[in-house]
Amino acid sequence: MRKSIKDAFVVLGGDRILRVTNRTPRVLFWHGVDNIKDAVVEAETCNSNTFINQIKYLKRNYEIVSIDEFYNRYVTNSFTGKEIVLTFDDGYKNNLTVVAPFLKSLYIPFTVFISTNHISSGALFPTSIVRLLIFGSQLTRIEIPLIGIKAELKTHEQKKSVADKLEQIIKSAPNTQAIRINEELLLNVTSTKLQELVSYYSSLTPMNWDEVRDLRKYNCTIGSHCLDHICCHENQDESEILKQILESKQVIESELEMPCHYFAYPNGDYTDYSNKCIKESGYRLAFSARKDRILETGGDSFCMPRIHVPHEINTFKIFINLHPIKRPHLA
Ligand SMILES: [Zn+2]
Repeated sequence: MRKSIKDAFVVLGGDRILRVTNRTPRVLFWHGVDNIKDAVVEAETCNSNTFINQIKYLKRNYEIVSIDEFYNRYVTNSFTGKEIVLTFDDGYKNNLTVVAPFLKSLYIPFTVFISTNHISSGALFPTSIVRLLIFGSQLTRIEIPLIGIKAELKTHEQKKSVADKLEQIIKSAPNTQAIRINEELLLNVTSTKLQELVSYYSSLTPMNWDEVRDLRKYNCTIGSHCLDHICCHENQDESEILKQILESKQVIESELEMPCHYFAYPNGDYTDYSNKCIKESGYRLAFSARKDRILETGGDSFCMPRIHVPHEINTFKIFINLHPIKRPHLA
């Protein structure tokens, strides 16, 4: 839909009609929220002002509940259909510095899913590194011998083609290989240049453990997003999947001295085996990135639907009311 048509649709109250006719609980997710310098490098970051408008809109029109309250209503079959749960993936520093104070000012609860090895090491997330080096640096060529990539980066099309290919490879590679690809990717810049880029694009920086602990001062629940932001896909060893799901829970519980009940799958990938690991590790709920409807008792609590929100405000207003799309065979 063109932007002018979307704007007109919202002005005419189309989003309200969708909301009234499509009542269902929704779990939404963002990544970072910050003042963006480059929309391509920081593609996963929502601009602060837009985020403020999104939250004010949700507060006006929905009931924003904590993930614990959502869980209680799920197990007691008592959803009203107006619930919204706010979640943030990966564990960016701006979740503490930008998101938390703003949500606190409106008494709004939220959940942050963290990849614990990134919290411990401070290493950027794999797809952040891809975008930072390919679009944010001045590199004119790039080499990653491990996967046979040797490419020019002179035009936007060349950059986009390499970035898309790399992201796809990293997201579907076994964890150890994904880590080695990232290491080779980083060899394309000096450590001084990398530091410069990381400081400039500060929205991509993860929290450290003290900062995660600071989130407890807010109405924030911490959940797991694996150890390494691995993907729980079919190419991953089962032992690796179990380790990532179980150990990340144990690390969070030990660092924060509180139970970790919730999990979100990196990139939304899951398998039958990963769902089994979630259940056996003692999580209450795990979230995918499927835009299906959340079924009350009888739904699958170990790969629940969740909606990745669009950033532009009128697209957001239409998208989150429209999704999940109501199908006749569902309640
Ligand atoms: Zn993630």
